[in-house]
Amino acid sequence: MWSRRRFLESVGSIPLVGGAIAAGTPAADAMAGGTSRDYFRELGVRPFINAAGTYTAMTASLMPREVIDAITYASKHYVMLDELHDRVGERIATLVRSEAAMVTAGAASALTLGTAAVLTGTDRQKIGALPDLAAGGMKREVIVQKAHRFGYEHAVRNCGVRLVEVETRDDLERAVTDQTAMMLFYNNNNKEGQIRDEEFAQLGRKHSIPTLNDAAADVPPLENLWKYTAMGFDLVAFSGGKGIRGPQSAGLLLGRRPLVAAARLNGSPNGNAIGRGMKVNKEEMVGMLAALELFVRKDHAAEEREFERRAEEIRKAAASVAGIHAEIFVPEVANHVPHVRVSWGGAPNGSRAAGIVRALQAGEPSIAIRSEGETLVIGVWMMQSGEEKIVARRLREELNRQS
Ligand SMILES: *Cc1c(COP(=O)(O)O)cnc(C)c1O
Repeated sequence: MWSRRRFLESVGSIPLVGGAIAAGTPAADAMAGGTSRDYFRELGVRPFINAAGTYTAMTASLMPREVIDAITYASKHYVMLDELHDRVGERIATLVRSEAAMVTAGAASALTLGTAAVLTGTDRQKIGALPDLAAGGMKREVIVQKAHRFGYEHAVRNCGVRLVEVETRDDLERAVTDQTAMMLFYNNNNKEGQIRDEEFAQLGRKHSIPTLNDAAADVPPLENLWKYTAMGFDLVAFSGGKGIRGPQSAGLLLGRRPLVAAARLNGSPNGNAIGRGMKVNKEEMVGMLAALELFVRKDHAAEEREFERRAEEIRKAAASVAGIHAEIFVPEVANHVPHVRVSWGGAPNGSRAAGIVRALQAGEPSIAIRSEGETLVIGVWMMQSGEEKIVARRLREELNRQS
């Protein structure tokens, strides 16, 4: 059974104990909290080193100390929720150079509320009617490129709309009807579609159809926070708890003032609205603001160098095993930070990578990495400083054992 003490021992072989950890790091927090209740242990839930990335099922990211402080602060006071929503939204809009902004319960929630906003505007009758588009006399179609169909569309379809697929610019212009409510763009697949981001936003303008860009996982780089609204997208969605490292149950909807105002009306605390179940309380709002301030201010170049250093340590360890190829790569759009890819020469053997993933997860300490077919993918940005040494050692051990 994993325990805090054994975990500290195992990381203790690298300089963790004895002042080597900077104050304010998550590792220091863990040590400072050493006398408090160990809930995960009590519950028999085993924490792990996150060498995968910002995956919701793995709880995605850890919030910096400043964000926890903001949440703790907010938890001790009552305020009027809409007033806080207004003020936090204004601050965030300034930080990301957008006309307006709101904190949502994640990027998926931003997709639902953004879609609801274009369908209802501020019409209370329509807001109450969603997702019954006919009853509310609302438009029913959302245009999307075929290459942009993706795993989070349900958040848009929640509003009762039908997705209309197009491939070319001509297709798109032909698909526009009096039933077209919105045009949806999946930022990660910009290069896969025939209509690129800028042209897509322009086409929305030309036909007076609001455009929504899902850029949930697409910071860093920092400037993406303002790139797409500046490009002309009417609405842009980001996750709060991925690269920005805000609360995992928070996100951002950025864009035009009337649309963000309409999105607000479709959300909590309004009781009879499609977004009532996507509640965002003061803790997430203030935590999201604190996380965003940190993210905008931080030295992204220095952080990138730190990620490269971790990735190189893991790459070297893997590459030291005979027959193993290991390289560093940076995904072009989402999760745009250094990762390590490990592969075997020779014929594909679909179970080998999965076996290593399982062995690392079952080991001490537990380590989460991902496999993609017959390759291993290690993400270094969500691990805590120093953990790259443990990952490098354990990965080398398992590669040696299972090669
Ligand atoms: C992660 C992700 C989402 C969902 O984001 P949450 O903040 O977890 O709601 C939506 N779209 C894309 C493209 C994502 O990567």
